[in-house]
Amino acid sequence: MFKAFKTIRWKLTLTFLLAFGIMFIIFGIILYNIQAYQQKSSMDNAMNVLAESIYNEIRADSLKPSVLEETQETFIPFTTVSKHFAEITDSSGFVLLKSRELGSSSLPFTKEQLDISLKENHPFHKLKAGNNDTLWDDYGLRVLYYPVTYHYKKYIIIVAVPLSGLKTSLNNLKLLYSGTIPLMLLLSSIAGWFFSKKAYGPVKQLTINANLISAENLNKRLPVNDTGDELAQLSVTLNNMIERLEKSFSTLKQFTSDASHELRTPLTILRGQIEVALEKQRNPEDYQKILEDSLDEVKRLQSIVDELLLLSRIESGKINTKQDKINIYELMTDVVLKLNFLSKKKNINIILKFRSENESNFHPIVSGDYAMLFHAFFNIIENAIKYSPQNSEINCIVNSTDDYKSALIHIRDNGIGISPEDSEKIFERFYRTDTSRTREESISLGLGLPIAKQIIEFHKGKISVNSSPGKGSEFVIRLPIS
Ligand code: ADP
Repeated sequence: MFKAFKTIRWKLTLTFLLAFGIMFIIFGIILYNIQAYQQKSSMDNAMNVLAESIYNEIRADSLKPSVLEETQETFIPFTTVSKHFAEITDSSGFVLLKSRELGSSSLPFTKEQLDISLKENHPFHKLKAGNNDTLWDDYGLRVLYYPVTYHYKKYIIIVAVPLSGLKTSLNNLKLLYSGTIPLMLLLSSIAGWFFSKKAYGPVKQLTINANLISAENLNKRLPVNDTGDELAQLSVTLNNMIERLEKSFSTLKQFTSDASHELRTPLTILRGQIEVALEKQRNPEDYQKILEDSLDEVKRLQSIVDELLLLSRIESGKINTKQDKINIYELMTDVVLKLNFLSKKKNINIILKFRSENESNFHPIVSGDYAMLFHAFFNIIENAIKYSPQNSEINCIVNSTDDYKSALIHIRDNGIGISPEDSEKIFERFYRTDTSRTREESISLGLGLPIAKQIIEFHKGKISVNSSPGKGSEFVIRLPIS
C-alpha cells in the first residue's frame, strides 16, 4: 500500500492535485472578490442614479409626495437592486417624504450621520437594522445620503438598500466555488492519474524487460522504441551498459576458467611427484631429483600467481606508481643488459639504436613508473629472444613521432613470426600460440604480453604488432613524451 504511494505515478498525481488545488483556490478568491466588488459598485451606482433622479424629479415637479413613487416607476436602470427605500429630510433630519414601502417604519439613521453627510459629498454608510424592523434583516442597509439644495434650502435624499440581496448573491457565489473546486480537483486528479499512466506505461514496460535480464542471459537486449524520446535514449544507454557488462562478464568467466586451468596443471604435476615420492622408501638422490622437479612447478605456480596479481592490480588501478622522468633509451639499455644472459645462450645479437646517428641530442623522456615500464619491455624483448632462432639479430629502435609528441619504439626480431589470427589474440590473457605451447625451453604462461599491454596503456601508450609466420615480428610501442 505505502509502496504504491512511492511510485512516480502517485507522486505526479498528488503534485497535480496540490498544484491545481492551490490554483483553483487562489483563482476562486480572486474571482469572488472581483464579483463582490462589481456587485457593490453596481449597487452604489444604481443608488446614486436613483438619488439623482429623485432630485431631478423634485426640481421638475417640486417637493410633492408623489415624487418618490414616480421616480421609482420611471427608474429603469435600477435592475441590480431589487428592493430599496427612500426618504427626503430637511437639514435638521425631519422626514418630509418617504417611500410607500416603508409604511410606518423609518430608516434608522441618526442626526450625527446626517450632519456628517451634509459636509461630505454623497457618502455611503452602512446602517445596522433596528430590532423591530421586518423590512430588512440582520445584514442591515446600505445607505446613501444625497444632500441637495432646492429653493435655497438644504434637503437630504436618503436612499437605502437592504444588504441581504447582495449577501445572498455573494453567498451563492461562495457556495458555487466551494462546490465546483472539489469537483474540478477530482476531475483533474483523474486526468492526472490517466495521463501519468499513459506517460509512465513505457517506463513500467522497461522495468519489466530490464528485470528479465540477469547474469544468465546477458546477451538479451531491451527493446528500443523508434520515438527517439528520452525513454528510447534510456533503453539505448541501458543496452550499451548491458553490452559492457556482458563483455566484462565473459572476460571474467574466461579468466577464471583459464586461471584455474593454468593452476591445475602444475598442481597436478606437483601432487603426482609427491605421491610417487611417498610410494616407497627412496635413496637421497631420488628425493633430491623429485624435490628439484617440484620446485620448478612451485616456481611456475608462483609466477602465475604473481603475474595475475600484477595484472589485476594494474587493471583495477590499485597500484602505487611513481612518476619518474624516464629516458627511454636508458631504460631499453638496462632491459637489454638484464637479458644478456638469455641472448648469449642463443648467441643472439641485440642492437639498440637511436632514430638517427646525427640526432644524438634526441632523448625521448617519458614520465611514468620505471619498474613497470622495465617489466613491459623486458617481456617483449624476452619474447623476441625466446621465439628467435640461434645466431640471429634483434633490432630495438628508439624513435619519435614527427611531431615529437610520442616516443616510438620498434622491437624487431627474425623469429618464427605470428599468424594474422594469432596476432589479434596474443594480448589476451593465457593466450599462447600452438608453436609456443610445444616449446620446452622456457615457461610459457601467456601473460607476458597482456601485462606489457596493460602497463603501456596505463602510461597512456599503445602497443601493436606486425608479423607474418617465418619472417619475424615487429612490436611497435608508442608512449607520450612528457
Ligand atoms: P608467453 O610468451 O609466456 O607464452 P606472452 O603473452 O608473452 O606469453 O606471448 C603470448 C604468445 O604470443 C606467445 O605464446 C607466442 O606464441 C606469441 N609471441 C609473443 N611474442 C612473440 C614473438 N616475438 N615472436 C613470435 N611469437 C610471439
